[in-house]
Amino acid sequence: APVLLWFRYDLRLDDNPALIDAAAKGPVTALFVLDPALDGRPLGGAARWWLHHSLTALSAALAERGVPLLLRAGDATAIVTEEAARIGAQGVVWNRGNTPWLRRLDQTVPVALSRQGLAHRITASDLMVEPEAIRTGSGGAFKVFTPFWKTLQAHHRPAPPQDRPETLRGPGLPDGPIPVPEDWGLLPTRPDWAGGLRAAWIPGEAAAHRRLGDFLQERVQAYGNRRDFPAEPATSRLSPHLRFGEISARRVWQVTEALTGPDGLPFLRELAWREFNHHILFQAPDLHLLPLRPEFRQFPWRDDPKGFAAWSRGKTGYPIVDAGMRELWQTGWMHNRVRMIVGSFLVKDLLIPWTAGEDWFWDTLVDACPANNPGNWQWVSGCGADAAPYFRVFNPVLQGEKFDGDGAYVRRWVPELNRKRQGVHRPAEAEDLFRTPGYPPPIVDHNRARDRALAAFSALKEQN
Ligand code: FAD
Repeated sequence: APVLLWFRYDLRLDDNPALIDAAAKGPVTALFVLDPALDGRPLGGAARWWLHHSLTALSAALAERGVPLLLRAGDATAIVTEEAARIGAQGVVWNRGNTPWLRRLDQTVPVALSRQGLAHRITASDLMVEPEAIRTGSGGAFKVFTPFWKTLQAHHRPAPPQDRPETLRGPGLPDGPIPVPEDWGLLPTRPDWAGGLRAAWIPGEAAAHRRLGDFLQERVQAYGNRRDFPAEPATSRLSPHLRFGEISARRVWQVTEALTGPDGLPFLRELAWREFNHHILFQAPDLHLLPLRPEFRQFPWRDDPKGFAAWSRGKTGYPIVDAGMRELWQTGWMHNRVRMIVGSFLVKDLLIPWTAGEDWFWDTLVDACPANNPGNWQWVSGCGADAAPYFRVFNPVLQGEKFDGDGAYVRRWVPELNRKRQGVHRPAEAEDLFRTPGYPPPIVDHNRARDRALAAFSALKEQN
């Protein structure tokens, strides 16, 4: 009898424990269920685009081995059970979830299956360490990154990744791979805003491995020194591939260590931030709604729709902020340094709630992640587990001059400024302001906005 292999955000054949388990038991039929219960909220637009192409790639790779990928939308618990019964499966196998929502399904689905007399097996998740397995000296969960990272390195080496099984086979697919149903509406139609995404990305497992290979050959050595300079292709750009599980963190860790030794550590340390944020999410499933520091619930945020519109469209008059927001809109990704700058600008210069920024990122990032996105927004806002101190207010002009000295990044994304040679980060101060048609003056004065933010943040500190 066939085995039903249930895919969630582990859309790969390599290092996939559930797939290895299923392949050893019999012919495999695979299933993916589109259900908002997978994330606790509907996926954003850019992530939906990614998912469409990732499923298309997975469906094709499975079809080569005669394995159909059934694609259904609706209530995951009901559908997994129905499909298992319909194909007469000997059992259902899947990888343990790495978010609270997937873990909830890990509890409801087995109950529904056993009511039908169906067997199941849950294999390891793709976290390098399960949240229950890593503890501080006093037995609690880690709330600060550096000790977490030290403990991870010293005591929790990730399990070695496993190759894809040679024995994988399915019932056969005479009509070729099953396409993603059009009525899922994962792709934008009118307007088709995905041109920039298509130019920037190739979703899927094969592309993920190519990206890792290129990065390790060409850029990992310089990563520690160059990762903060947004004009350079210094980082791996693996984030959307990791988000959808097209490559496992275990595989990235193992290949990096094998090829680079200690030189790879700055990169692996960033990978550990992903792990840390997932662990935080387990302690606080409402991470995208509630500040981890409760005093921030009283924070005097401003309601400023005009400011938000200028920020989200890349029209604040601060070149590095605008470049970042436009890179995000066009490609579904933004450089980490610039994410921190635009985040600080929204929260501190405009005093707009971080949840509004988190929401915008959730909709526009191809790597929009239920752990990394809210975890980092809380970090930027000073209300997170191991947060930036509240008095750190990035100066967007100085940040631009420091990390994009020759303005190459700004000129790439803000064409209004691309003829400027000097002072690209200070267009409002330049004499040729009126010769930069279409570029807005700054929507706030940074120095005044900074004083306003510090007053609000320190008032909060004093109350508590
Ligand atoms: P690399 O520098 O090559 O790093 C390798 C991998 O490590 C990344 O792919 C990612 O999985 C992980 N990583 C790196 N930096 C971080 C970090 N600060 N926190 C957690 N994991 C990290 N990352 C997401 O994956 N999804 C998000 O939704 C997300 N939202 C963010 C929101 C804000 C406000 C900020 C400041 C950061 C956010 N990040 C998010 C973290 C980081 O910006 C991206 O992971 C990184 O820019 C992705 O590019 P890369 O793959 O080239 O990273």
